Amino acid sequence: MFNKKTIVDIDVKGKKVLVRVDFNVPTKEGKVGDDTRIRAALPTIQYLLEHGAAVILCSHLGRPKGGPDPKYTMQPVAQHLSGLLNAPVLFADDCIGPNAEAAAKSLKSGQVLLLENTRFHPEEEKNDENMARQLASLAEIFVNDAFGTAHRAHASTEGVTHYLPGVAGFLLEKEIRYLGQAVAEPKRPFVAILGGAKISDKIGVIRNLLAKADHILIGGGMANTFFKAQGLEMADSLVEDTAVETAKELLAMSGGKLHLPVDMVLGDKFDAEAALQTADLGNVPAGWRILDIGPKTVAAYADVISKAGTVVWNGPMGVFEFPRFAEGTYGVAKAVAESSAISVIGGGESVAAVQQSGQASKITHISTGGGASLEMLEGLVLPGVAALQDK
Ligand code: AMP
Repeated sequence: MFNKKTIVDIDVKGKKVLVRVDFNVPTKEGKVGDDTRIRAALPTIQYLLEHGAAVILCSHLGRPKGGPDPKYTMQPVAQHLSGLLNAPVLFADDCIGPNAEAAAKSLKSGQVLLLENTRFHPEEEKNDENMARQLASLAEIFVNDAFGTAHRAHASTEGVTHYLPGVAGFLLEKEIRYLGQAVAEPKRPFVAILGGAKISDKIGVIRNLLAKADHILIGGGMANTFFKAQGLEMADSLVEDTAVETAKELLAMSGGKLHLPVDMVLGDKFDAEAALQTADLGNVPAGWRILDIGPKTVAAYADVISKAGTVVWNGPMGVFEFPRFAEGTYGVAKAVAESSAISVIGGGESVAAVQQSGQASKITHISTGGGASLEMLEGLVLPGVAALQDK
């Protein structure tokens, strides 16, 4: 299934190892917020240190526009990582060029160096050969452990492998194993839960899963476009008019696999304090909008989930950010947590929702990648993974 070399397949002793990590974490006033992504990379970093490598880490952070921007410096990450490793983390103020080269050159086995934000160079996202070559010149081996960016062919994820032998880190391996296996060799029944705002982001995923899954449970704003395709009046609900035809096609080819909500929780405005009413599925009254799935839908979905062998979930069932419209998402999270299925959850919003619901510890695998996990569900090959050496 996972046929790429990993760090256990190579000798790293005495070698300089460039590791692409996903340290794209929130930072504010010089401090790191949620550090889940940093913690997720620790097993790889620790393994490399214990096996005598000199570890050079690089990552992007945020979306700097075309050049260095102090708002997106990796410096707070260096400090935070140092605390987690309980060891010094050296820092270079650029990821390529003389300062990075000097810092990498003097780095010894067992030491860690973090390079400044790779996206301070616009060449990063262009997968520029020259930037890739300069990055590669810092080390002898490349390790990709950045699952969250593995769906992008950038200089630090793909280009660099043209100049250095590339292998996978533990996090990348784990993510691909869980997500890849869930889709390619699921324990059946295989149930996919898809929600979130828009259907247009997930058309490829629905198509792929219609071929692979036994049931697809739809919720969130994207259900509205299906309802519109069935001729229901959606009033002020979020609907993607440009996707109505596609929704019709998907329904026609669904073979009974697509499940839509049977009731709805309506709000009179898009607001945490909105007035609320629950109704069976039907025309939405003027002045109202669907903001969550209703209790009958939760019960019906929970029944399907309770019999599942594998569950994959991407996208919340409603506007869970407003507590009174979070019940649908929490109810489904509870059902997934209580089922004995292998459960894999991906996507920033869905992960936040499941964490808020208090059920996260009962999920088999929570992915660190949003876009990358969606592309895996879509059955696509991630360029950052394809570029690594085969076993
Ligand atoms: P996505 O990034 O596509 O997974 O969408 C996540 C967002 O979808 C969340 O921030 C939710 O608030 C939003 N969402 C879920 N259900 C609805 C709905 N019925 N109407 C509007 N937005 C929704």
